[in-house]
Amino acid sequence: MSRALAILKEVFGYHAFRGRQAEIIDHVADGGDCLVLMPTGGGKSLCYQIPALLRQQAGHGVGIVVSPLIALMQDQVAALTEAGVRAAVLNSTLSSGEASAVERDLLAGRIEVLYVAPERLMTPRFLDLLDRTRVGLFAIDEAHCVSQWGHDFRPEYIQLSVLHERFPNVPRIALTATADSLTRNEIIERLALDDARVFISSFDRPNIRYRIVEKDNARQQLLAFIKAEHMNGDGGHDSGIVYCLSRKKVEETAQWLAGHGINALAYHAGMDAQVRQHHQARFREEEGIVMVATIAFGMGIDKPDVRFVAHLDLPKSMEGYYQETGRAGRDGLPANAWMAYGLGDVVQQKRMIDESEADDAHKRVSSAKLDALLGLCETAGCRRVRILAYFDESAGPCGNCDTCLEPPSTWDGTREAQMALSCVYRTAQTSRVHFGATHLIDVLRGNSTEKIRQWGHDKVSTFGIGKDLSVSEWHAIFRQLIAHGLLVIDHGGHGALLLGEPARAVLKGEQSITLRRQVSKPAKSGERAGRGGTRTDHTATMDADTLANWEALRRWRTATAKSHGVPAYVIFHDATLAELARSAPESLDDLAEVPGIGASKLERYGDEILEALRAV
Ligand code: ADP
Ligand code: ZN
Repeated sequence: MSRALAILKEVFGYHAFRGRQAEIIDHVADGGDCLVLMPTGGGKSLCYQIPALLRQQAGHGVGIVVSPLIALMQDQVAALTEAGVRAAVLNSTLSSGEASAVERDLLAGRIEVLYVAPERLMTPRFLDLLDRTRVGLFAIDEAHCVSQWGHDFRPEYIQLSVLHERFPNVPRIALTATADSLTRNEIIERLALDDARVFISSFDRPNIRYRIVEKDNARQQLLAFIKAEHMNGDGGHDSGIVYCLSRKKVEETAQWLAGHGINALAYHAGMDAQVRQHHQARFREEEGIVMVATIAFGMGIDKPDVRFVAHLDLPKSMEGYYQETGRAGRDGLPANAWMAYGLGDVVQQKRMIDESEADDAHKRVSSAKLDALLGLCETAGCRRVRILAYFDESAGPCGNCDTCLEPPSTWDGTREAQMALSCVYRTAQTSRVHFGATHLIDVLRGNSTEKIRQWGHDKVSTFGIGKDLSVSEWHAIFRQLIAHGLLVIDHGGHGALLLGEPARAVLKGEQSITLRRQVSKPAKSGERAGRGGTRTDHTATMDADTLANWEALRRWRTATAKSHGVPAYVIFHDATLAELARSAPESLDDLAEVPGIGASKLERYGDEILEALRAV
């Protein structure tokens, strides 16, 4: 057995490497530089933690990990300490006395893995300290923070290239979950990683089930979804994140959910900093909190047991959507990504782009990104195929998204598309201005509204030709026409629709159009899929004995986490706990076989766990 595998087993309690972990670890332990692109939850931490231990044991010195996220550093150090690794952190949360103690340990070679904030690392004082220390490797986590184009840009990251100049013989491993090639090249350039090996993993997150429903009272739909799929046996519910576009909506939604029995908290940049931090800490440390947030609640959420991410508003781009949904299920267990969207969302995002201060080129890029996301919402094919294709990865239908599980039927919508397109054409021709979907649908359905009479649209030839279809059916058609580029949302922020280039061929009857059939009862889609088995509740499949074990273990874990001052998942992940409940080991030897239990945890908690199980 290789040393790396032995450490995986002894320290972390896992039996096999995942994906390219083994290759990466060998490469870095041998002193090579590399860039690792791996999705969230892919297992990046072990890629530098194990080489750090290997190199420390071989006498090369301490592994220095640069991370921009204070909460994440603290969790990692707590988890490593639990696993028996001599790990420490240096960041702004330490008192000067605590910091000096860490520095002394560092100089004395007593630390195996040290987490440092970038601004601390780059101080002349700390670099001097490193000159007097043996350094075994540098790991640069969240390496995309060097990218000036990304939203996580950290100016201090740019200076990290100094590491290479100052410590040319120390291997560097940079890691990120940001997939696009632009960011990748920027990292290589800015961190001077030209000779580094690049390890790219698939960005698929197979444990996440993607689902996009038509908006029809989104809050109620959200509540139905949580109730159907995320309640636990004991009346509580899973941890989850709900994203909304505006601060006001965040507040209102959190309040509304709380009024309906959900343990919901709000988070946005406009809140009092202290309250915000308190909410974040509760979300991290407690089990079963739903955080309703704007995208300000972002990087640094490394809570592994977030069981769902819900969107009540459309994000700006596929990148944003994938990053946000990626916060679900980091522990690899089943998780849900759920979104409710409607035409209004598209119009709103478009307006935000038009009204922004960006130049035209930037606006065009933003519009194209929005279009890609719209394509995802309206696709009749596999969502995952669509998402991965956007990131230049090809895949087959996944079997774990709404369109795979309940393939939408399609219909020949050529005639209806022609009606809608010619309605756009006629009304604009008559009035010399363009109109939005609501008005156009009124015209098609022959509603004699005041606006229609005022513009004389009851006289146009398309008035009333579409009265056989309901308003929501027409909405679905308009959304798809936009997604296909047959209609384009006008600049100017009012949601007016213009004919797109390909509309001509459809109007002339040269091209037919296949549309996705509207799901008949959108409000119920959560429940329906729920019966398909998305329940992520561990207890759902447990027999009575296992359930009793599980409850006893959870009580033990809660008490232990509390007395250690760490989140429950730092003690044991749910997966480990569930396996313990199922297998109910009766000896320390049996216990050691359970994934997630390394030598240190075995020694520390083994007897307590056996005792807790015996007492059931
Ligand atoms: P990332 O930093 O890439 O988002 P982490 O390093 O936090 O992911 O790993 C995600 C989860 O997967 C963690 O719970 C970790 O313990 C677990 N994990 C990583 N590698 C393995 C492995 N080889 N076997 C089992 N579990 C693993
Ligand atoms: Zn699919």
